[in-house]
Amino acid sequence: MAIKPGVPAPNLASRMGEVDLREQGGVTYRELRSRSLLNKCDSPRMPFTWTVNPYRGCAMGCRYCYAAYTHEFMGITTPEAFHSLVYVKTGAEEETARRLAAAVKKGQRIALGTATDPYQPGEAQARVTRGFLEMVAQHRNARLGIVTKGALILRDLDLLRRIHSRSRLSVHVSLITPHAELARRLDPWAPPPDVRIEVMRRLVEAGIVAWLGLAPVLPAITDDEASLDLLLGRVAAAGVRHMFANVLFLRSPTKEKFLRWLAADFPAYLEAYRRAYADRVYFGGRYRETIDARVRVLKHKHGFADVERDRDFVEPKQMKLGWC
Ligand code: SF4
Repeated sequence: MAIKPGVPAPNLASRMGEVDLREQGGVTYRELRSRSLLNKCDSPRMPFTWTVNPYRGCAMGCRYCYAAYTHEFMGITTPEAFHSLVYVKTGAEEETARRLAAAVKKGQRIALGTATDPYQPGEAQARVTRGFLEMVAQHRNARLGIVTKGALILRDLDLLRRIHSRSRLSVHVSLITPHAELARRLDPWAPPPDVRIEVMRRLVEAGIVAWLGLAPVLPAITDDEASLDLLLGRVAAAGVRHMFANVLFLRSPTKEKFLRWLAADFPAYLEAYRRAYADRVYFGGRYRETIDARVRVLKHKHGFADVERDRDFVEPKQMKLGWC
């Protein structure tokens, strides 16, 4: 689909609210009237059939956020706006309930948080994620994976426990560095590393399967062995036994946004990144193999399970999901 600045896709134009619901911490929230929270994902590369993204946009502000392209379908072509203008999905209850029941009946996997963080700050008031989990909690044998950086997930521990007791649930907490100052520069509005590790500890304590999502690994910024060792050691000490890692995937419009940030924050790396990502979406050469090997050794050292992927879910934000 050709993207035209200021021109939303026809199926979105009539659903986008023009009135601000509220302003919070420099983020504007607007309504997006939606038929269903569950969207079918037809990509054969994805291990789930349905995605749920309660919001369009994400206030966590991660510099490398792959999902920024989703705002282009709304005619918003400034990738930074993905973090400052967040659409809250409304009015989807009836069709969501119908699709959810059908998905559960067929044993299909559902991924919550593939292109937004379902526990970003706005969820405290909007409660769209909680509303969806309340629906899931009514079922048995649902298959749900959640990915988040938000400590607000602890608000919903009661629901998560209930879902875990009758369905298959895994929660992936994304964290790419143990260093608070670096995390603040990379994920400015996400909770600091200590808080995210505490979230994982509380999830494990509640009996829920928690994963560390170490993605994306950023060349020269977060990939040194000492930092990864510290991170995996601290997460393992919180009781987490599962993790996966993936290196930075960079494609327009995130690429331009990320390089602008790099020029300001890590100018010494700018040219190397430019060259490395000039004609490919992953860092070239044997970089991925080097990181895979490094992570494998550290996983073994810290007692993580020897599995690469959650069978019910993978970190999807580093892959193109199209309309999913
Ligand atoms: S990477 Fe995830 S948490 Fe960060 S801004 Fe994007 S959707 Fe939000």
